[in-house]
Amino acid sequence: MLNIVLFGPPGAGKGTQSENIIAKYKLVHLSTGDLFRIHLGEGTELGKLARGYMDQGKLVPDEVVIKMVEDKISHHLDANGFIFDGFPRTVHQATSLDTMLQSHDLSISTMIALEVPEDELRIRIKERAKTSGRVDDQDEEKINTRISVYLNETAPVASYYKEQNKFNGINGVGSINHIFTSICQVIDRL
Ligand code: AMP
Repeated sequence: MLNIVLFGPPGAGKGTQSENIIAKYKLVHLSTGDLFRIHLGEGTELGKLARGYMDQGKLVPDEVVIKMVEDKISHHLDANGFIFDGFPRTVHQATSLDTMLQSHDLSISTMIALEVPEDELRIRIKERAKTSGRVDDQDEEKINTRISVYLNETAPVASYYKEQNKFNGINGVGSINHIFTSICQVIDRL
């Protein structure tokens, strides 16, 4: 199985590039943000629980996210692999993901980190807000919270994969196609 962690701050282009990767490599998309938004839309208990955190731009507690991911993985064990988008977002989530995969004799193949400067992220999130309908894209304070949560809680996840020699930084600024070509170069070397 080809199991890829697509990493980067909010607005880095993870969703867009996930779609390209899935189309080419036939992987299962596991976006925790998308899964939460589906629960929110359906008004499930999980959605109700997640809403308060998401509306503020804060992280949903690890146990909740991990359980949801575990469930999704267990339903797709026959897949070519997974693209993890927006997960893991804490070092605890990363170690839990490893344990989960190991229990199925699987592992993470690589991490691809989209690197985009902060001012460019803000421009992209504001642009996305016009069409995404996402509450967390709409106001400056929520965007600030998400960026600081990324820097404080999520950025250390990169070091976790660096220690395992699985980290690949990609310049996330440029045309979508050009960035996708750089991503494919990493995947095709595996
Ligand atoms: P995203 O679509 O990845 O930007 O996620 C939107 C929101 O969903 C985040 O701001 C968090 O509130 C929540 N969320 C998504 N993925 C995670 C995760 N792995 N851990 C905790 N919260 C998450």
